[in-house]
Amino acid sequence: MLTRLYRITLLFLISVPAYSQNTNNITLLQPNQVNDSCIKIANKLSSVTFNECISLELMPSQHQSNNKNNLLIKEYPPLLNKRQPQARILMLGGIHGDEYSSVTIMFKWMKILDKYHSGLFHWKVAPLVNPDGLLQKKSQRINASGVDLNRNFPNNGSPQASLEYWKDRAYSDPRRYPGPSPLSEPETQWIVKLIKDFKPDAIVSVHAPYGIVDYDGPPSPPSRLGHLYLKLLGTYPGSLGNYAGLQEEIPVVTIELPYAGIMPSNHEVSRIWVDMIKWLRVNIPQPPKAKTALQ
Ligand SMILES: [Zn+2]
Repeated sequence: MLTRLYRITLLFLISVPAYSQNTNNITLLQPNQVNDSCIKIANKLSSVTFNECISLELMPSQHQSNNKNNLLIKEYPPLLNKRQPQARILMLGGIHGDEYSSVTIMFKWMKILDKYHSGLFHWKVAPLVNPDGLLQKKSQRINASGVDLNRNFPNNGSPQASLEYWKDRAYSDPRRYPGPSPLSEPETQWIVKLIKDFKPDAIVSVHAPYGIVDYDGPPSPPSRLGHLYLKLLGTYPGSLGNYAGLQEEIPVVTIELPYAGIMPSNHEVSRIWVDMIKWLRVNIPQPPKAKTALQ
């Protein structure tokens, strides 16, 4: 007998075309690449099934990690003949490969977007920025070259700052190695290109396990998302918050889930999402621009 979940998944698979409307310029080979990625991700994450992954119709970004894993992306574009999106939002998971919940929650939120994308925002979602870190036999924070991607972003005019900080303040901790120079890694090169091309009005980046909300850049941060309360941790040279939030002045919401290996309850996953949408709706782009866009 079919379980309810299986029947829903089956119905969903049947009801969704094999390729999305955004695949015009994608070669036939590429869905196989996504297949391979979904097999690897589902084998690694107990909370993401292969069917769940494949039904989301993620696309290869044309960029790969050091270990030639596909860097996957999903776009929720403006809806034709509907309202203009209020803002462009970039959402990133799994910059640190051992923070499993930060990847799984991307898949849960993409499922929500698949069902309810209303055109309010134009989204791009990169659920797994550091596939090499996650897909190691023992998942690791750093990428395949031993670089902490969240220390490998550009430093305004000070390319040595990340290395100096790492030696002096992080005591050369190998888990926080910023790489030989900013943007030495294909994964960070991809994210910076994505930021420059897509020009997001806000970035949401998910980590674990501090159980708080951190924030960099203008305007004022959310005080709470779900049960996660605002706590400003400060930025590090080479971090995404430092690069995008402070240097590029793009609001960066960093969500730190409470556990790397345990997902929040389904209720909490929804609450964080709803609170985040409410905050984005009021604050992004910054008023009074937002007011104009909403009319
Ligand atoms: Zn992290």
